Amino acid sequence: MISARRLLGRLAYGSRYNDMPWGQRVYVRPGERFIRQAQWWWRIRRAPVMSLEEYGATRELGEIEEFLSCMMCGEPRQQPLFEPTGGKGWRYHVVRCPSCGFLYRNPNVLPERLGDLYSSGYSGFLTGAYAANRQRRYKLTMEAFAPVFDHGEGRRLLDFGSGVGLFLELAEQRGFDACGVDLSPDSVAQANERLTRARAYHGTPEEVPEIARGGFDVITLWSVLAHLPRPLDDFQRFRDLLAPGGVLLILTVNARSLLLKAYGSTWSGFTKNHLMFYSSDTLRTLLRRTGFAGVAYAPHYGDTIEAGTARLPGPLQWRLRRAVDASDGGNMMRALAFADETAIARWGDGLTVHRLREAGLPPATPPDSGDLRDSSEMAT
Ligand SMILES: [Zn+2]
Repeated sequence: MISARRLLGRLAYGSRYNDMPWGQRVYVRPGERFIRQAQWWWRIRRAPVMSLEEYGATRELGEIEEFLSCMMCGEPRQQPLFEPTGGKGWRYHVVRCPSCGFLYRNPNVLPERLGDLYSSGYSGFLTGAYAANRQRRYKLTMEAFAPVFDHGEGRRLLDFGSGVGLFLELAEQRGFDACGVDLSPDSVAQANERLTRARAYHGTPEEVPEIARGGFDVITLWSVLAHLPRPLDDFQRFRDLLAPGGVLLILTVNARSLLLKAYGSTWSGFTKNHLMFYSSDTLRTLLRRTGFAGVAYAPHYGDTIEAGTARLPGPLQWRLRRAVDASDGGNMMRALAFADETAIARWGDGLTVHRLREAGLPPATPPDSGDLRDSSEMAT
């Protein structure tokens, strides 16, 4: 049986766009951007706003889970929106903060149990075609923020969540003095087989003296941000680990993606281990609260489009880029965060830098993570 969604698509557009990859279709069909934005607005208007207690009563709490308030603004109220599911029976709930719009999994995973998600078997699929596609994605993103990654000689780089070392391999090729850290012991072992000068470590940054001493010129978070259960603590730590003039690169799924608006719970960004979903707005909040001076974004049009290998005709590529730009709705978000004014002066040329604090004011007060944690857990 044909779904209502597909039937509507056929009625509206005939079969002209049916052969196109699903990740491009939504961006190029005429008028679809406006329809999806209206649909999103309607979805949010319709969704109930509940107190954390009311919400908690409707959900079962797993053994490694906890209920959260919004980590970005402290709002305890919840707007249930999505229920992603996947193979082997995983299922979770995604809520929206009615105050700041942050999307997050609730219940979420207890930070002390995060290792359970990555303890074994996680490195299995990070090979073959996946590896080639990942490295292409890294190169395209480095290009988007050139010249930060052009020459690494004499600069220290930390890849946080370094997996099997696919990015560290590129970083050492470009001359960086690079190291990585990851929670999966299998991945770290594979990474160190792949690498020559760079080195990957198992654990957290404080557990590795080489990393804990800080002074990094670049920190990279490749598809890691959505996995962090305590992003404020982590970003505070990244800020401390950066040298003066340092930058933090972030690639993550985009909570403002037009594809999320179109596909809802079946969106590709709702993967098994993702915990929080950022837009350019909520990422700015996170960076501001952890003492960064500025941020620049590079819209993501899709790897095959940017690499020039997409089979999409030119006029449609143009339409796709325009839809991404106009909606801030690319499926991934790419950002370069600047530790301080020196970093903006050194690397901000040619980028649109959003300042995160007024010139002349002292850095934002670091959040008191202890307080935040207490208030963000549901009273039981
Ligand atoms: Zn919020």
